[in-house]
Amino acid sequence: MAKQGSKKNVKLKFDTQWQYSAAPESPDHIILSDKYDLFINGKFTPPQSKKYFDTINPAKETRIASVAEAGQADVDAAVSAARQAYNKVWSKMPARERGKYIYRIARLMQERARELAIIESMDGGKPIRESRDIDVPLAAAHFFYYAGWADKLDYALPGMKAEPMGVAGQIIPWNFPLLMAAWKIAPALACGNTVVLKPAETTPLTALKLAEIIRDADLPPGVVNIVTGAGATGAAIVNHAGIDKIAFTGSTDVGKIIQKALAGTSKKFTLELGGKAANIIFEDAAIDQAVEGIVNGIFFNQGHVCCAGSRLFVQESIANTLLRKLKDRMETLIVGDPLDKNTDIGAINSRDQLNKIKSLVKIGINEGGECYQSSCSLPSKGFWFRPTIFTNVAQSSKIVQEEIFGPVLAIQTFRTVEEAIEKANNTPYGLSGGVWTDKGSKVFKVTSKIKAGVLWANTFNKFDPTSPFGGYKESGSGREGGMHGLSAYLK
Ligand code: NAP
Ligand code: MG
Repeated sequence: MAKQGSKKNVKLKFDTQWQYSAAPESPDHIILSDKYDLFINGKFTPPQSKKYFDTINPAKETRIASVAEAGQADVDAAVSAARQAYNKVWSKMPARERGKYIYRIARLMQERARELAIIESMDGGKPIRESRDIDVPLAAAHFFYYAGWADKLDYALPGMKAEPMGVAGQIIPWNFPLLMAAWKIAPALACGNTVVLKPAETTPLTALKLAEIIRDADLPPGVVNIVTGAGATGAAIVNHAGIDKIAFTGSTDVGKIIQKALAGTSKKFTLELGGKAANIIFEDAAIDQAVEGIVNGIFFNQGHVCCAGSRLFVQESIANTLLRKLKDRMETLIVGDPLDKNTDIGAINSRDQLNKIKSLVKIGINEGGECYQSSCSLPSKGFWFRPTIFTNVAQSSKIVQEEIFGPVLAIQTFRTVEEAIEKANNTPYGLSGGVWTDKGSKVFKVTSKIKAGVLWANTFNKFDPTSPFGGYKESGSGREGGMHGLSAYLK
């Protein structure tokens, strides 16, 4: 059984001082079609498969729209459009002109930012504050950033002639749908490649809105093709002979399937996979800021974050104080309507994901972990999970080793710097991590010894288009973002 908190414990008297009136963002001005076709060769095209699936709002369990399911013939058409556009237009266009198109996409995204943020929250369940302040502005920033690189590629790779790879097949997950599309499309286009992109089955809508923007930006037909569907559509892209490069972001399990499928082919690939980040708090850290960082690290976006700080290591001398403060802070987190600007934690993305989180939490309890959850009320409809922490867990516990991809934190203690480093590295993953301390020298010592692609010091989950991102070990290979993200799309 999970122990639940009580608001009575919270020193701030949550009920009287921290009760906010609802502040919902209105979806009234949002125009969504009832049915979405595939975006191939610059046009929305009905699927040859004749199949459609529903995308739902996970906060309400209601259908939003039907979306085309691309079959093999549709993927063939998209790849052939991308090849034609590559050969005839995009690879021949002066780089400066390519850059202008990419700028135009960025500006149109900014103009439609509010609409994109609302649709992102409706389709995926994330709080509007995050889609409005993080996902959408960062997505536009990626297009701006890579637009600037388009005519400077030879400077990015001194002494080499930058040449595009050709047609890129790109497959993305549901946790940052628009942002992941931007991560993939912007550098590919800047480098002169054309694209076939598949968004995740549960969150296709902002990618389809991006298709409208790409059409309105007058991008030559076929340069970007967006084909919706499930895993089989993704597999059809991976296995397509007409594709030169695969860029995949998703789970380690599917990443391994893709790597096997690509072995022995000439296709290049980048894989951005799962994570189980260590967030390490030393006794000399600013403790209140660290608590905010822990909350941001694991409860942000319902814990649907590959680089989430899902393993917490606290120095023993401050463990009790920190745990008390963390529990108090958890009580003030508001779980509920993603469109309400007060909401801290929105809906879990799908019923499947909710079931996965529940089953791993159950395993954690059965393994002897002490489970504590906030006492917040949950809406009656929709997919929700309370912010949850586990103490009394071992390095070998399943919830310490496996990616849960939900708002669930496993907490352990340590005594020495060496012990913290050893425990942090005891994982098959290596995507990200965080260190909290007052001492700069400790930051450098610890971060240089942790095997992870991204490390934050005295902060967590900060992103920027200029900064490369990617993992070690089973968290993937290759880097996206920054100048490194250019070489992922150049020969
Ligand atoms: P997933 O199940 O691996 O799916 C990712 C994408 O691959 C989806 O579009 C999916 O389609 C598609 N797909 C499924 N099976 C496929 C196959 N056999 N061949 C080709 N494509 C296939 O991952 P997810 O559950 O959507 O996302 C969560 C995972 O992504 C987590 O593990 C997280 O850590 C990781 N992630 C990593 C990063 C990073 O940068 N390292 C960033 C974000 C997320 P469907 O949607 O239809 O299943
Ligand atoms: Mg949905």
